[in-house]
Amino acid sequence: MFITFEGLDFSGKSTQVGLLADALSRSGAKTLVLRDPGGTAIGERIRAVLLDRELLDMSDFTELFLFSASRSQLVQEIIKPALHAGTIVVCDRFYDSTTAYQGWGRGLSLEAIKSINRVAADGLLPAITYFIDIPVSEIELRMKRQKAGADRMEMSGRAFYERAREGFLQLAKEEPRFEVIDGRMSIEEIRQKVWNRFEREMANQRKGV
Ligand code: ADP
Repeated sequence: MFITFEGLDFSGKSTQVGLLADALSRSGAKTLVLRDPGGTAIGERIRAVLLDRELLDMSDFTELFLFSASRSQLVQEIIKPALHAGTIVVCDRFYDSTTAYQGWGRGLSLEAIKSINRVAADGLLPAITYFIDIPVSEIELRMKRQKAGADRMEMSGRAFYERAREGFLQLAKEEPRFEVIDGRMSIEEIRQKVWNRFEREMANQRKGV
């Protein structure tokens, strides 16, 4: 099974990816945790370019292709073989982030992005996509709390994040694989909601739904 987590930065994705992966491993399932961009030697280098604060003159299409290149490598080198071997793959971000950030956020053609996403993911479709939703004001609070310096993507500004959030919400409306979870709930409450949806999905798969 292929599971993805989406959300704005600081929404709590990696926290929940870790909790779900722990629960899956404890239940005896073969589990693999990945992040996109990254997850391969090539992808981690592309990730470093994408997040580099010194590369502010990157064009929007360069950004789109770099994210997609990293994803293609991840799918071919890691995700497809792992799924084939019966491993549950949990990925921190996947192509919905490209639709939300490069499409809605940067304003690139959603049609073009749909095709590029399909090619980069080689037709792969997540069984569940958790969208952990926080308002943009909450990002700012959490960033301050963590005293984190912004990376290149995080320097894109409030309006960019507002548009990206709209994009995620729109995708979630269109596709039933999405589970939207209010990211302002406690880590434990979110963990429970994540697990509930996972169990529902497992039950459906067993029934062949
Ligand atoms: P992301 O991977 O989406 O950037 P993280 O999981 O790294 O998010 O979490 C970002 C910050 O928010 C961390 O400091 C984390 O401890 C905190 N955090 C995560 N989940 C919650 C939550 N439900 N409520 C409040 N703070 C949270």
